[in-house]
Amino acid sequence: METTATILHADLDAFYASVEQLLDPSLRGKAIAVGGGVVLAASYEAKSFGVSSGMSGRRARELCPQLIFVGGHFQDYQRVGDAAINVLNDFTPLVERISIDEAFADVAGCTHLFGSPPEIARSRVRAELGLPISIGVARTKHLAKIASQVAKPDGLVVVDPQTELDFLHDQPVELMWGVGPVTRERLAEIGVHTIGQLAKMPGWSLERIVGRAAGEKLTALAWNRDPRQIRTGHRAQSAGAQSALGKKPAEEQVFRPTLRHLADRVASRLRAKSRPGRTVTVRVRFADLHSVTRSVTLDEPISATATLAEIAEELVRTALSDHPDEKTLSLLAISVSHLEKHWKVQLELPLELEDEKRQPGTKKGMARWTADRAVDTIRDRFGWDAVGYGSVVLGPSRSVPDEFRELAEKEL
Ligand SMILES: [Mg+2]
Repeated sequence: METTATILHADLDAFYASVEQLLDPSLRGKAIAVGGGVVLAASYEAKSFGVSSGMSGRRARELCPQLIFVGGHFQDYQRVGDAAINVLNDFTPLVERISIDEAFADVAGCTHLFGSPPEIARSRVRAELGLPISIGVARTKHLAKIASQVAKPDGLVVVDPQTELDFLHDQPVELMWGVGPVTRERLAEIGVHTIGQLAKMPGWSLERIVGRAAGEKLTALAWNRDPRQIRTGHRAQSAGAQSALGKKPAEEQVFRPTLRHLADRVASRLRAKSRPGRTVTVRVRFADLHSVTRSVTLDEPISATATLAEIAEELVRTALSDHPDEKTLSLLAISVSHLEKHWKVQLELPLELEDEKRQPGTKKGMARWTADRAVDTIRDRFGWDAVGYGSVVLGPSRSVPDEFRELAEKEL
């Protein structure tokens, strides 16, 4: 058993809202929410009125009439989130990113002349990026994550292994991994509010509320038994994106722009990771929520937006012609799997002429590759919306929830 606190959990505070306040100084100190119909993130000023993420926009306005809703600068969220997590990489290679604004790191053996790594990391994120970040340090991942929640806003909590159970048992149960609002309510009904109270519940009693497997896990975590290590460098096996359509007619003019938009998102991610893939899968969901998938595995991996879009269109056409009675689409999804580990542009000339533009080594294939690289470069500098492929730019507007889903889907 580890006897020193070396696991660090770093979590940017009210992340999306903090980035909006960073980009627009006139929003600082004000109650703001990112989103519209639903609150996706709220600034601390808004939280003090009871506004929280997941709440309907109407309810949030009732609680806080001066609440300002702002749009999402998704490219900036990604950029700033990456930069903050990169600060941790300066201390140790043992960094496990778990979402856009959160990561674990193991700082064992990581000493510094001018202070403790967590303190330096916090002040660097504050000084270099202008964002508040909270850090918890403990002997296990679970306890480090609880410590960072206790540290909020903008704080540092280091849990001494000697007294860790005293610290843990005083905390409310909802800080535990796996305890959501429903479980919290049910525990409250039987008088269990703290992690210490949960730790001392008889197993059968807890199992009756959360089931057997979750009961055993929660009991272990309540005694700080958490053997999970920091996992670094695990690679994505696929990349995908989906778009809910409501109810739209199953026609070319509906599915083509949607597929272009999805292909643009997926292919950009493949290129950013230098991981082209060979298997393309589309999912088509009809009005009755029944869905079908179609896929194809290519001889060579692809990552060009136009190529992925064309293949996806062909697959969707096939799916629709196999289901001539289905007249309504409710969702479309594209994913690419069988990802290659390294980029290799095929310089050998292939084979079937009709496929020529899809081959990265051919003249047309090279033109697509060059166009994509130009788009990626411009977006890196000026943002996602600065440039795009004609039909994508003019296509369905990118709704806020769609973009948030993309951030959440993203393998980091
Ligand atoms: Mg956060």
